[in-house]
Amino acid sequence: MTRRRQIYEGKAKILYEGPEPGTLIQYFKDDATAFNAQKKGTISGKGVLNNRISEHVFTLLGNIGVPTHFIRRLNMREQLIRQCEIVPIEVVIRNVAAGSIAKRLGLEEGLQLPRTIIEYYYKDDALGDPIVSEEHIACFGWASQDEMHDIADMAIRINDFLTGLFAGVGIRLVDFKLEFGRIYDNDYARIILADEISPDGCRLWDMTTGEKLDKDRFRQDLGGEVEAYQEIARRLGLLPEGENTVLDMAEHRKNRGK
Ligand code: UDP
Repeated sequence: MTRRRQIYEGKAKILYEGPEPGTLIQYFKDDATAFNAQKKGTISGKGVLNNRISEHVFTLLGNIGVPTHFIRRLNMREQLIRQCEIVPIEVVIRNVAAGSIAKRLGLEEGLQLPRTIIEYYYKDDALGDPIVSEEHIACFGWASQDEMHDIADMAIRINDFLTGLFAGVGIRLVDFKLEFGRIYDNDYARIILADEISPDGCRLWDMTTGEKLDKDRFRQDLGGEVEAYQEIARRLGLLPEGENTVLDMAEHRKNRGK
């Protein structure tokens, strides 16, 4: 096997050179981190589930006209994506108070916000991803005003779509994080949705029980992380009935081949 060139390794994913110029392969690891990587662990099977969930969500978003980096899933842990220049901003969309906003503003977790809030965080691990305003983004040139306009528009559109998608399967979309990138057509730069959308970067609560079905299970040592991610995949129709896990499916295929 020829070794592929690794372009970047992050906390939960690795990027490899793609088969054609302008493409990359995004590999989903089982590694999990929280609290600015102070807490580290692995959630066995998470990468497989996130690859599948993110494929599904990006495909649906593509279908409603949101431009994304996703091209196609290649295998259990990898997807082919368009190479883009990542805007160094984490975009957080909140519908319900939880996590850092609850702490920062002294809000009760679970409070339905009177309106959706978009927050921006500067992507810098050494600084612990500080919250920033559009003023900072413009001042330091991290994105142009036009780009920020496109990003906020897309974020609201994605939130509306995902809120409905999850509500339809009994899940409350509390908050989530998006990342965007630039692609260049000749000299013209365009913003596309990048990274992933999975329970690693979303808060997803069961609508009736309030049970947490996302990375807070890991952050808060609640256990049952992979089962929660599987439940999300199952409700989205990504796990065939009768099969408990995506990993079971891999086992099945192996056994069938014997
Ligand atoms: N989030 C993320 N990566 C980060 C920070 C936040 O994916 O580096 C997601 C997180 O999973 C949650 C939302 O963004 O769904 C809001 O996170 P918050 O600001 O509350 O931070 P936390 O307290 O989770 O670190």
